[in-house]
Amino acid sequence: MEVLYLIFFVVLGLILGSFYNVVGYRLPNNMSIAFPSSHCPKCNHKLGPLELIPVLSYIFQLGKCKSCKSKISIQYPIIELLTGILFGFSYLKFGISVNLFISLVLVSLVVIIFVSDIKYMIIPDQIIIVSIILIFISKCFLGISEAFVSLLYGLISFGVMFLIKLIGDFIFKRESLGGGDIKLMFVIGMSIGPIMSVCNIFLGSLIAFPIAIVSMITKKEHLIPYGPFLGVALLILFFFQITPQVLYDFLLNLY
Ligand SMILES: [Zn+2]
Repeated sequence: MEVLYLIFFVVLGLILGSFYNVVGYRLPNNMSIAFPSSHCPKCNHKLGPLELIPVLSYIFQLGKCKSCKSKISIQYPIIELLTGILFGFSYLKFGISVNLFISLVLVSLVVIIFVSDIKYMIIPDQIIIVSIILIFISKCFLGISEAFVSLLYGLISFGVMFLIKLIGDFIFKRESLGGGDIKLMFVIGMSIGPIMSVCNIFLGSLIAFPIAIVSMITKKEHLIPYGPFLGVALLILFFFQITPQVLYDFLLNLY
């Protein structure tokens, strides 16, 4: 039975991952996510049902459009596979529970941010709002007070990030943090609380640092999107349910 559930969540992830490719591309470009239906960006060939199977279509078509033979970006199957794996992992980690639902919301959010922030340096407001609503509803299953506390946590974390932005703007004399990153902190605070969301900022920066250095040297690029790193840090902290207590015990053990 457990294996059936696992297969269900992996397949669900593969299918939704395919949808998130579309969402992450269309929302930053102010396009409708429903119309027109999926087509080849080069020749406008409308994709049939056999060309819409996550990962498999890409493999069987050898990564090429069936009509014009132009190359399809490897990003599509990678995002599908990533979503499928992370959905399956979420089920293994949390079983059927409120945390599983929150985990699926967070994975979806982070995957869409990967598509849109890396390509367009934008985290669409719509996905932040939908995430806030879905997490609030899931928290309601734990109790109404729990749900409202999570909103408060979101607000505090948002405020902390906004303060960091103000200080950063003052020091660097330019926009230091994007609006999307600050709004993202609301979702982070809701799901892991204000103390861990500060840890999230540190962990995100820690992961981003080496990549920022490499991109500065190789591409002379000083601006890298911060959202994906915040997202990866969030998934690590949430998956492994790292609480202030866990962190405290860990630091104590180092001595
Ligand atoms: Zn084509």
